[in-house]
Amino acid sequence: MTTDRRLTIAWLYGARMNIYGDRGNVLALAQRARWRGIAPRVVEIGIGEAIPEETDIFFFGGGQDQEQVSVSRDLAGAKGEAIKAAVNNGAALLSVCGGYQLLGHAYRPHDAAPLPGIGLFDVDSEAGPERFIGNVVVDTQWGTLVGFENHSGLTFLGETAKPMGKVRVGRGNNGQDGAEGVIHKHAIGCYLHGSLLPKNPILTDWLLAAGLRYRYGSGDLSPLDNAIEQLAHASAIERAVATR
Ligand code: GLN
Repeated sequence: MTTDRRLTIAWLYGARMNIYGDRGNVLALAQRARWRGIAPRVVEIGIGEAIPEETDIFFFGGGQDQEQVSVSRDLAGAKGEAIKAAVNNGAALLSVCGGYQLLGHAYRPHDAAPLPGIGLFDVDSEAGPERFIGNVVVDTQWGTLVGFENHSGLTFLGETAKPMGKVRVGRGNNGQDGAEGVIHKHAIGCYLHGSLLPKNPILTDWLLAAGLRYRYGSGDLSPLDNAIEQLAHASAIERAVATR
């Protein structure tokens, strides 16, 4: 099946912010678009490179503190403003861990100067005393999501921020308030590596539909057979619950 619809996916700092399988999220978005005859165009945006105006969906993966230093500097100013403007006009976005932290107000690593964020999300993050590592299961508007976390950063939601979900297994944003991630319009921040989207197809399609709606005014997606994705989802949850 082919349609003449297309989607531009901007992969922010793919060469630097790509750990624990994050690249799989870009692959899942592109493949589930192709299966509907929608032509995906993936554009990797590096340091000093501008955001394409026609971007419909953004992906921003995780990275170690030292990578976040140069990325934070590059996001300051026009680039961060372009991302905020697109999201506030309806573009879709998924950010994971280090990317999530830099879309908040700031991230304070251990023994280093605070890294300014772009303030898309009303959240603040700081490095905590322990590393949260393990499987995560979260109850959300899309049902149960499953992924993997590995972070020392603790994220706290501001008054206007809405959590993405409630942690059932794992530590989530900060291991204290039971919340995981944040959602603002069609933009998501979370601590879910893995990669997340291949085994959570409902969320992948939600992002694709939002991207289509942003570009074409309607987000119609034909149904797909998700049998394999559902199997992967169920076995990941089983393992998470068994090993918590
Ligand atoms: N460096 C950040 C932290 O430790 C993000 C890590 C990550 O992206 N997995 O919290």
